[in-house]
Amino acid sequence: MVAVKVLLVVIDAASPRVFCPAVQTGRLKNFKLLAEAGEMHQESVSIFPSITPAATSSIITGCYPSQHGIVGASWYDERSDQVAYYGDDFWVVAARGFGAFLRDFLVHLNGDRLTAPTLFESVEGAGREAACFNFLVYRGLKPHRVNIPWLLAVLPGTPLTETVLGPTTLCLGDFVSDGRGHAPSPKPHGALHRFGMDDAGTGSMLCQAAAEGTLPDFTVAYFADNDYRSHEVGPFGALPVLDRVDAALGATFEAAGGIERFLSETCVIVTSDHGHCDILEDADAAVIHLDNLYSDFAQATLGKPWNARDQIMICPNMRAAQLYVHGTASVAQVVQTALKEPRIDLVIWRGGETPATRRYHVSGPRGTLAFWRHGGGGREGRDAQGTAWRWDGDPAVLRLETSDGLVHSADYPNPFERIAGALDADAAGDVWLTAQPGCEFEVRGGQPHVGAGSHGALHTLDSLSPVIVAGASMRLPRTLRSIDLAALCMRALGLTSRREIGAPALRD
Ligand SMILES: [Zn+2]
Repeated sequence: MVAVKVLLVVIDAASPRVFCPAVQTGRLKNFKLLAEAGEMHQESVSIFPSITPAATSSIITGCYPSQHGIVGASWYDERSDQVAYYGDDFWVVAARGFGAFLRDFLVHLNGDRLTAPTLFESVEGAGREAACFNFLVYRGLKPHRVNIPWLLAVLPGTPLTETVLGPTTLCLGDFVSDGRGHAPSPKPHGALHRFGMDDAGTGSMLCQAAAEGTLPDFTVAYFADNDYRSHEVGPFGALPVLDRVDAALGATFEAAGGIERFLSETCVIVTSDHGHCDILEDADAAVIHLDNLYSDFAQATLGKPWNARDQIMICPNMRAAQLYVHGTASVAQVVQTALKEPRIDLVIWRGGETPATRRYHVSGPRGTLAFWRHGGGGREGRDAQGTAWRWDGDPAVLRLETSDGLVHSADYPNPFERIAGALDADAAGDVWLTAQPGCEFEVRGGQPHVGAGSHGALHTLDSLSPVIVAGASMRLPRTLRSIDLAALCMRALGLTSRREIGAPALRD
């Protein structure tokens, strides 16, 4: 039987190693009820870089940054000569300056920067109706008025957009509240509650829509507080936030007449965008200062486009970083400098001018490896999706294992597809770095998460998400990726998706 409706719940940064035991022991009792009514997968693989703007875009578009264009939390866009900068993470920058943050989302991320269709566009394009509660990648087909007085209060004197395109129901805290049911903006508001865009706001809107019976065919509800809190106290310390999300779901089911009734007409899918890695307590050991490491290079000012004499632009993405090379500097020099720092886990760059000659290079303390998709030579194997790859060099770099023609890595899940899915983006850095577990990249003026949690890298700690599906009679495949969630939602709705669950996802 195909469920009539789908509710997709995205809990930012819920790590399986924290979330799943709390479900299994019954601490998160409503999630446990969902898992018992359906199925829980503990190893859905996020994208690289495993960081919120890129990873939430992948959930809602079903593709990698190479296709959706959101290449992390910070990158350089050569076409517009702008640095896209979403800060250390959504909510850290929100705390510093909510106005600029919101303008970047309202105007840019959901406008010119997002280059793939969202689920909201696909679902409503197929004649069904959708709602978005606080999910920040919300582009749809219907114009909504932005609450200008609120924005002006936050960002005086700045020209602002008056309408944004979203699904039929679009609720973004105090800024946009429009659609069926017309849920009034929930309490509490204000800067302390991120203007209604925190978990209390999302939970309240969801519960109200369930009580009124106004949930449409497809709803995305986004709970961001877990990421925010995990950056402060680490992923395990943030468990009380997950307790509150669990309670919000329980209240939603209750408002709709109980979980059984809810699941009889709605398929509930729960996931996160990435995991969290614990960061060492000793700042000297934890923080890799990239501006110091690259002090021999003329560095572009953080967040600003190139000046003529600049040689390197550093775009930190917490446990990953993208470096752009300019003028008299070379990729080889930038790579060699990175290899002098033992806390850098992987140094990644791309060679070859055409898809036929393209090579992805990965270097680190365990050696050097190159891999490619087209042409002969090297060793050969398939990934779990069936894509054929060839590679040459030290498999220990990515801790590769091969058996029966399958190439696999426990430490770096689905490494080839995820690396290509980032580096093939038009705006991707020339050289990417990832930090050893426990470490994080920083440049002057940043806020490292010493003794707490961080993410962004290719490592398994950063890269896994739980997935629960309840209320639909479908079995989850053994290997699952966050880019499969869009197809999962479409199938539960009885709609055709552009790519099937588990299918190869790269294009030339
Ligand atoms: Zn996130």
